[in-house]
Amino acid sequence: MRRWLWLWTVGCGLMAAAGCAVISHLRSPRLPPDAMRTPNIPDDGYHDFVGAIHIHTTYSHDAHGRFEDVVRVANAQRLDYCILTEHNNLRPLRDGKQGWHGMTLVLVGTELSTRSGHYLAFNVHEEIDRYQPVQDIINEVNRQGGLGFIAHPYFKNARWKDWTVTGFTGIEAYNVAHDTLDENRARLVFWTLTAPAGPFYFSILDRPYDPLAKWDEMIRQHGRVVGIGSTDAHEFHLWGLKFAPYEVMFQIVRTHLLIPSETLTADAVYDAFRRGHVYFAIELVAEAKGFSFLAAVGTRVVGVMGDEIAFEPTLHLMTWLPAPAQLTLFQDGRSIATTIGQNWDIPVTEPGVYRLEAFRHDKPWIFSNPIYVRPAPSQAGPAPSAGERPAVPADSSQQPAASENSQTPSSADGNDASVPTTP
Ligand SMILES: [Zn+2]
Ligand SMILES: [Zn+2]
Repeated sequence: MRRWLWLWTVGCGLMAAAGCAVISHLRSPRLPPDAMRTPNIPDDGYHDFVGAIHIHTTYSHDAHGRFEDVVRVANAQRLDYCILTEHNNLRPLRDGKQGWHGMTLVLVGTELSTRSGHYLAFNVHEEIDRYQPVQDIINEVNRQGGLGFIAHPYFKNARWKDWTVTGFTGIEAYNVAHDTLDENRARLVFWTLTAPAGPFYFSILDRPYDPLAKWDEMIRQHGRVVGIGSTDAHEFHLWGLKFAPYEVMFQIVRTHLLIPSETLTADAVYDAFRRGHVYFAIELVAEAKGFSFLAAVGTRVVGVMGDEIAFEPTLHLMTWLPAPAQLTLFQDGRSIATTIGQNWDIPVTEPGVYRLEAFRHDKPWIFSNPIYVRPAPSQAGPAPSAGERPAVPADSSQQPAASENSQTPSSADGNDASVPTTP
């Protein structure tokens, strides 16, 4: 018995040391905000506010972290906002928890366990009957002036089942619970009891292939869909130990909002989500604040993530990251160009839905929302009727093949080495 105890202790020590070595090797320097601006990209007029969304506390039946723990960690990590989404209740709202707590704006939404899967509702004020048909739930959220997102669509315990629904704002393209709980359970328990939480979670992060593919498919189907990255944090307490602590969960994935004001308000947060002025990032190793992905004509900014703009021949996409990364540009869900660098300037040769993914050390880092480049009015044929969006074809195979130019992008500062990447 003593021998096993000794082996266990040595094993834990070795794994902890290895984990610390990995994380210290990978960790990027935290850049001061002023150093993160680059003269190579024009100012788009937006401010970058960072937060954690989809959070559970003791107001949910399956979490042990308290509201005060969320606030303490959010403040310590300098989060501008966070959004609670307790299971099937708005009790924190009735208890007056919504508002500023230190430097963090805490907003209260809810996660509804519907018959078709879990649905996140933001900016709702009345409890919603989760047993009604899911389309009625979506409509009810909208009737209250709220907005909603399909949660963890491929999480095996609560997959989304009804893809005929309409009226939602977007989808969780990344969910930490889905990414981690789908791992082997025995391995999860062993690692969480032995390795430091940060390196442990870093080791199991994956690109969310199925949710991303579904997001791209839904954009083709609906014209535009907003993608978000959610912590789905449920801090558990057992035998005096904390599992999936907020300290780690709030660093794994953060959702950034582009807001045209230095002042953050609840309305500004919801407006940014509606417009898709959003990107999300796995920040366990490197912070993403300051990331920029925009459309320009010359140096004139004509759109940011989430915007719909008209194609014109001199249009180009510009991006800047706070650290070098492997970058992949997607057009209508297909990877069309890759590079390694910190700046990237890409001519746009045809209309399409363009989004960007950045990887560091072969791990996912930043996911942009798309810039929707629509055909110019002269290209678009008859004008759509009122309320109708000019949607891209439902079948991506109908999209014209990427042109030579878009496969060999130029660069603003010499980062033009196109390399094959398999994200
Ligand atoms: Zn859920
Ligand atoms: Zn949840």
